[in-house]
Amino acid sequence: MSFSTTPAVIAIHGGAGTLSRASISPEQQARYRAALDEILRSAQASLADGAAAIDVVTEAVRQLEECPLFNAGRGAVYTADARHELDACVMRGSDLAAGAVAGVRTLRNPILAARAVMEAGEAGGPVLLIGDGAERFAAEHGCETVAPEWFDTPERLAQLHAMQATDSTALDHDGASQLAPTVPAPLDERDKFGTVGAVALDAHGHLAAATSTGGMTNKRPGRVGDSPLVGAGCYANDRTVAVSCTGVGEAFMRGLAAYDVSALVEYVGLPLRFAAKRVVMDKLPPLGGRGGLIAVDARGNVALPFNTEGMYRGWARVGEAPVSAIYADEAGPEQ
Ligand code: ASP
Repeated sequence: MSFSTTPAVIAIHGGAGTLSRASISPEQQARYRAALDEILRSAQASLADGAAAIDVVTEAVRQLEECPLFNAGRGAVYTADARHELDACVMRGSDLAAGAVAGVRTLRNPILAARAVMEAGEAGGPVLLIGDGAERFAAEHGCETVAPEWFDTPERLAQLHAMQATDSTALDHDGASQLAPTVPAPLDERDKFGTVGAVALDAHGHLAAATSTGGMTNKRPGRVGDSPLVGAGCYANDRTVAVSCTGVGEAFMRGLAAYDVSALVEYVGLPLRFAAKRVVMDKLPPLGGRGGLIAVDARGNVALPFNTEGMYRGWARVGEAPVSAIYADEAGPEQ
C-alpha cells in the first residue's frame, strides 16, 4: 500500500444560497456547523486510517443525506406535485469509474445506490439509472428501501406551499437570480440550494467526488438537474481534480461546470483556485448559474468558491483541525 507525502483532505458542502447572519438564527447556525464538523471529523479519521477517497466521500454524503438539515435524502425538497425525486452521483478519480441514479423515490440513501451502479458498471454496465429501474437495481444490490413518505419533513412542505402561493412562475427557489447583480438578494430560506457533496484526496494520492440532492423546490416532476450528471454536478480525475457542485442545475449542466474546472486545470494549466473561481464567478453567472462548488486537486489544494451570499461548507486535512463555514466573509482554505 503506497502512501503519498501529500496530507489527505476532505471537503464537504451542504448547499449554497442567500445565507446571511440576519436570516439564520444563532441556534440554526450552530446546528449546521455541528453537523458539518461531525461529518468532517469522521471523514478525517477514516482518511488518517488510510481509507480510500471513494469510500470516504460515499460515507460523508450518506451522513449528509441522513441529516434532515440538508436537501438530500431525508429533508429533501418537494416537487410541484408534493413528492420527492432524488438524484445522486459518485465518481472515482483513479479510473474514471462513475455511478449515478436519478428520480428515485424509495431509496433511503441515493448515494449508496449510485455507488452500487458504479461497482456494477465496472463490468461494463450502465453509469446512470433512473426511476423504477434504478430502484429495482438498488434493491437487488442490497440498498435499503423506504416508503416515499420517509423523506417528508414539515419544513420542506412549508417551503413548497410558500413557493406555490407566492409565485407560480418562478418554479425554482432562485428568485434572486432575476435581480440585477447589484441588488442584494432577498434573505429567504427558500432561496437556497441544499444539495450535499464531498470531495477527497486520500493518502494513496487518489481523488473522488460524490453529490446527492432532492433537486429544487417545486421542480417539475421528472426534472433532473446537474447533481447526478458526470461532468456537470460531479467529477473526479486523479490527473486533475475532484469537484461537487450546488446551485441552479440547468446552468451547471449547460456549463458542464465540474468538468470545466478539470479542463482548465488539465489543458490551460490553471492552479485549482483560479480554475474553480473562473467557472463559478465568470462562466456560470451569465447562464443564470447561482451557486458554488467544492474542489480538491491531486496536490491536496482545496477551493470552495460560490457566487451566492453563503455556502454551507467545510474541510479537514489529516492532522489539522476541521474548519466549517457558512458566510462569504469567513476565511477559505487557500488564504
Ligand atoms: N443543483 C441542484 C439541482 O439543480 C440543486 C442544488 O444544488 O441544491 O437539482
